[in-house]
Amino acid sequence: MREIASEMLGFLYPPRCPLCDTLILPGERLCADCGGESWTLQGPVCMRCGKPMESGREEYCRDCARKQHAYRQGKAVFAYHDKVRQSMYRFKYANRREYAGFYAGEAARKYGGWIARCGVEVIVPVPMYAWKQRRRGYNQAEVFARALGRELDLPVDAGIVRRIRNTVPQKELNDRQRRKNLKNAFQLNKDVVKYSQILLVDDIYTTGSTVDAVAETLLSGGATHIYCLCISIGAGF
Ligand SMILES: [Zn+2]
Ligand SMILES: [Zn+2]
Repeated sequence: MREIASEMLGFLYPPRCPLCDTLILPGERLCADCGGESWTLQGPVCMRCGKPMESGREEYCRDCARKQHAYRQGKAVFAYHDKVRQSMYRFKYANRREYAGFYAGEAARKYGGWIARCGVEVIVPVPMYAWKQRRRGYNQAEVFARALGRELDLPVDAGIVRRIRNTVPQKELNDRQRRKNLKNAFQLNKDVVKYSQILLVDDIYTTGSTVDAVAETLLSGGATHIYCLCISIGAGF
Protein backbone atom coordinates (compact mmCIF):
# COMPACT_ATOMS: atom_id res chain seq x y z
CA MET A 1 0.00 0.00 0.00
CA ARG A 2 2.77 2.37 1.00
CA GLU A 3 4.58 1.53 -2.23
CA ILE A 4 1.54 2.38 -4.32
CA ALA A 5 1.12 5.62 -2.42
CA SER A 6 4.75 6.57 -2.96
CA GLU A 7 4.48 5.65 -6.65
CA MET A 8 1.45 7.90 -7.03
CA LEU A 9 3.24 10.69 -5.24
CA GLY A 10 6.16 10.19 -7.59
CA PHE A 11 3.78 10.61 -10.50
CA LEU A 12 2.25 13.77 -9.11
CA TYR A 13 5.52 15.18 -7.79
CA PRO A 14 8.33 13.56 -9.75
CA PRO A 15 11.62 13.78 -7.85
CA ARG A 16 13.89 16.66 -8.75
CA CYS A 17 17.56 17.34 -8.21
CA PRO A 18 17.74 19.37 -4.97
CA LEU A 19 20.48 21.56 -6.43
CA CYS A 20 19.34 22.42 -9.97
CA ASP A 21 15.69 21.23 -9.93
CA THR A 22 15.89 19.05 -13.07
CA LEU A 23 13.91 15.80 -13.00
CA ILE A 24 15.74 12.79 -11.61
CA LEU A 25 14.85 9.12 -11.22
CA PRO A 26 13.25 7.91 -7.99
CA GLY A 27 15.97 7.03 -5.49
CA GLU A 28 18.58 9.24 -7.10
CA ARG A 29 20.20 11.76 -4.78
CA LEU A 30 21.27 14.35 -7.37
CA CYS A 31 21.19 14.66 -11.16
CA ALA A 32 24.18 13.39 -13.16
CA ASP A 33 25.44 16.94 -13.58
CA CYS A 34 25.41 17.87 -9.90
CA GLY A 35 26.27 14.39 -8.63
CA GLY A 36 29.81 14.52 -9.96
CA GLU A 37 30.87 17.20 -7.50
CA SER A 38 31.18 17.32 -3.77
CA TRP A 39 29.07 20.18 -2.49
CA THR A 40 29.70 20.33 1.21
CA LEU A 41 31.97 23.00 2.64
CA GLN A 42 35.66 22.10 2.26
CA GLY A 43 38.89 23.72 3.43
CA PRO A 44 39.70 25.90 6.44
CA VAL A 45 36.79 27.41 8.36
CA CYS A 46 36.41 29.81 11.28
CA MET A 47 36.60 27.85 14.54
CA ARG A 48 33.67 29.79 15.96
CA CYS A 49 31.08 30.38 13.23
CA GLY A 50 32.18 27.88 10.57
CA LYS A 51 32.61 30.38 7.73
CA PRO A 52 35.06 29.37 5.00
CA MET A 53 38.38 31.22 5.31
CA GLU A 54 41.03 32.04 2.77
CA SER A 55 43.79 30.31 4.73
CA GLY A 56 44.06 28.13 7.81
CA ARG A 57 46.48 30.56 9.49
CA GLU A 58 43.87 32.42 11.52
CA GLU A 59 41.66 30.66 14.01
CA TYR A 60 38.72 33.06 13.73
CA CYS A 61 37.20 35.05 10.88
CA ARG A 62 37.29 38.86 10.99
CA ASP A 63 33.78 38.91 12.34
CA CYS A 64 34.39 36.49 15.21
CA ALA A 65 37.79 37.98 16.07
CA ARG A 66 36.08 41.18 17.18
CA LYS A 67 32.80 40.03 18.65
CA GLN A 68 31.44 37.47 21.08
CA HIS A 69 28.71 35.07 20.08
CA ALA A 70 26.07 33.69 22.41
CA TYR A 71 26.42 30.26 20.81
CA ARG A 72 29.47 28.10 21.45
CA GLN A 73 30.30 26.84 17.98
CA GLY A 74 28.63 26.82 14.59
CA LYS A 75 28.91 24.76 11.42
CA ALA A 76 27.44 25.00 7.94
CA VAL A 77 26.78 22.33 5.34
CA PHE A 78 27.36 24.38 2.16
CA ALA A 79 29.06 27.58 1.08
CA TYR A 80 26.54 30.08 -0.24
CA HIS A 81 27.40 29.95 -3.94
CA ASP A 82 25.10 30.14 -6.98
CA LYS A 83 23.62 26.66 -7.19
CA VAL A 84 23.15 26.41 -3.44
CA ARG A 85 21.65 29.89 -3.32
CA GLN A 86 19.07 29.00 -5.97
CA SER A 87 18.33 25.69 -4.28
CA MET A 88 17.77 27.40 -0.93
CA TYR A 89 15.51 29.97 -2.55
CA ARG A 90 13.21 27.25 -3.91
CA PHE A 91 13.36 25.42 -0.57
CA LYS A 92 12.27 28.60 1.21
CA TYR A 93 9.78 30.17 -1.19
CA ALA A 94 8.71 27.58 -3.78
CA ASN A 95 7.60 24.75 -1.52
CA ARG A 96 10.50 22.44 -2.37
CA ARG A 97 10.37 21.05 1.14
CA GLU A 98 11.64 17.68 -0.06
CA TYR A 99 15.11 19.21 -0.53
CA ALA A 100 15.47 18.99 3.25
CA GLY A 101 16.20 15.27 2.92
CA PHE A 102 19.29 16.00 0.83
CA TYR A 103 20.47 18.85 3.07
CA ALA A 104 19.99 16.76 6.20
CA GLY A 105 21.72 13.72 4.68
CA GLU A 106 24.78 15.81 3.86
CA ALA A 107 24.66 17.49 7.29
CA ALA A 108 24.51 14.15 9.10
CA ARG A 109 27.36 12.70 7.05
CA LYS A 110 29.59 15.71 7.65
CA TYR A 111 28.66 16.70 11.20
CA GLY A 112 27.02 13.65 12.82
CA GLY A 113 30.24 13.00 14.79
CA TRP A 114 30.58 16.61 15.88
CA ILE A 115 26.93 16.76 17.01
CA ALA A 116 27.42 13.59 19.07
CA ARG A 117 30.64 14.94 20.64
CA CYS A 118 28.83 18.15 21.62
CA GLY A 119 26.34 16.04 23.56
CA VAL A 120 23.38 17.59 21.77
CA GLU A 121 20.10 16.55 23.41
CA VAL A 122 17.63 18.25 21.11
CA ILE A 123 17.41 20.11 17.81
CA VAL A 124 15.65 23.48 17.85
CA PRO A 125 14.81 25.38 14.64
CA VAL A 126 15.01 29.19 14.55
CA PRO A 127 11.31 30.10 14.81
CA MET A 128 9.42 32.14 12.26
CA TYR A 129 6.81 34.75 13.12
CA ALA A 130 3.48 32.86 13.36
CA TRP A 131 1.60 34.98 10.87
CA LYS A 132 4.41 34.73 8.33
CA GLN A 133 4.58 30.96 8.78
CA ARG A 134 0.84 30.62 8.23
CA ARG A 135 1.13 32.61 5.04
CA ARG A 136 4.07 30.59 3.70
CA GLY A 137 2.73 27.32 5.00
CA TYR A 138 5.93 26.14 6.66
CA ASN A 139 9.09 27.24 8.43
CA GLN A 140 12.01 26.05 6.31
CA ALA A 141 14.31 25.86 9.36
CA GLU A 142 11.84 23.50 11.04
CA VAL A 143 11.52 21.34 7.91
CA PHE A 144 15.32 21.00 7.91
CA ALA A 145 15.39 20.34 11.68
CA ARG A 146 12.87 17.50 11.35
CA ALA A 147 14.79 15.88 8.47
CA LEU A 148 18.01 16.14 10.51
CA GLY A 149 16.31 14.70 13.57
CA ARG A 150 15.24 11.67 11.52
CA GLU A 151 18.79 11.25 10.15
CA LEU A 152 20.43 11.43 13.57
CA ASP A 153 17.64 9.94 15.66
CA LEU A 154 17.48 13.09 17.80
CA PRO A 155 14.32 14.79 19.09
CA VAL A 156 13.22 18.09 17.57
CA ASP A 157 11.49 20.72 19.70
CA ALA A 158 9.96 23.62 17.80
CA GLY A 159 7.93 24.78 20.80
CA ILE A 160 10.58 26.07 23.21
CA VAL A 161 10.99 29.53 21.77
CA ARG A 162 8.78 31.69 19.58
CA ARG A 163 9.25 34.80 17.50
CA ILE A 164 7.08 37.57 18.91
CA ARG A 165 7.95 40.33 16.50
CA ASN A 166 7.84 40.33 12.72
CA THR A 167 11.27 41.85 12.15
CA VAL A 168 12.12 43.70 8.95
CA PRO A 169 14.24 41.71 6.48
CA GLN A 170 17.86 41.66 7.64
CA LYS A 171 19.36 41.87 4.16
CA GLU A 172 19.49 45.66 4.00
CA LEU A 173 20.79 46.14 7.53
CA ASN A 174 24.32 46.36 8.88
CA ASP A 175 25.43 44.30 11.88
CA ARG A 176 24.47 46.87 14.53
CA GLN A 177 21.07 47.46 12.95
CA ARG A 178 20.51 43.71 12.75
CA ARG A 179 21.09 43.33 16.46
CA LYS A 180 18.74 46.17 17.25
CA ASN A 181 16.17 44.74 14.85
CA LEU A 182 16.25 41.40 16.70
CA LYS A 183 16.23 42.78 20.23
CA ASN A 184 13.33 41.19 22.10
CA ALA A 185 12.19 39.40 18.95
CA PHE A 186 12.23 35.97 20.64
CA GLN A 187 10.59 34.70 23.79
CA LEU A 188 10.51 31.40 25.68
CA ASN A 189 7.19 29.58 25.77
CA LYS A 190 7.96 28.28 29.26
CA ASP A 191 10.21 29.94 31.84
CA VAL A 192 12.58 27.00 32.08
CA VAL A 193 14.38 25.25 29.25
CA LYS A 194 14.72 21.57 30.15
CA TYR A 195 17.77 20.90 27.96
CA SER A 196 21.42 21.80 28.55
CA GLN A 197 23.00 21.21 25.14
CA ILE A 198 20.95 22.43 22.21
CA LEU A 199 21.62 22.40 18.48
CA LEU A 200 20.00 25.44 16.92
CA VAL A 201 19.37 25.15 13.18
CA ASP A 202 18.60 27.70 10.49
CA ASP A 203 18.78 27.91 6.71
CA ILE A 204 21.31 30.70 6.12
CA TYR A 205 24.03 32.15 8.35
CA THR A 206 25.15 35.69 7.56
CA THR A 207 26.35 37.65 10.60
CA GLY A 208 24.99 35.29 13.21
CA SER A 209 22.75 37.94 14.76
CA THR A 210 19.66 35.75 14.42
CA VAL A 211 21.16 32.60 15.98
CA ASP A 212 22.76 34.78 18.67
CA ALA A 213 19.41 36.30 19.57
CA VAL A 214 17.74 32.87 19.82
CA ALA A 215 20.74 31.43 21.68
CA GLU A 216 20.57 34.26 24.26
CA THR A 217 16.90 33.50 24.79
CA LEU A 218 17.60 29.79 25.32
CA LEU A 219 20.48 30.54 27.70
CA SER A 220 18.22 32.83 29.73
CA GLY A 221 15.99 29.80 30.38
CA GLY A 222 18.84 27.69 31.75
CA ALA A 223 20.37 25.96 28.72
CA THR A 224 24.17 25.83 29.10
CA HIS A 225 25.60 25.32 25.61
CA ILE A 226 24.09 26.29 22.29
CA TYR A 227 25.61 24.98 19.06
CA CYS A 228 24.35 25.95 15.67
CA LEU A 229 24.14 24.34 12.28
CA CYS A 230 23.01 26.19 9.19
CA ILE A 231 22.41 24.80 5.74
CA SER A 232 24.57 27.46 4.09
CA ILE A 233 26.96 30.22 5.01
CA GLY A 234 28.75 33.17 3.38
CA ALA A 235 32.53 33.59 3.24
CA GLY A 236 34.39 34.87 6.29
CA PHE A 237 37.01 37.09 4.63
ZN1 LIG B 1 21.31 18.89 -10.54
ZN1 LIG C 1 33.65 33.36 12.36
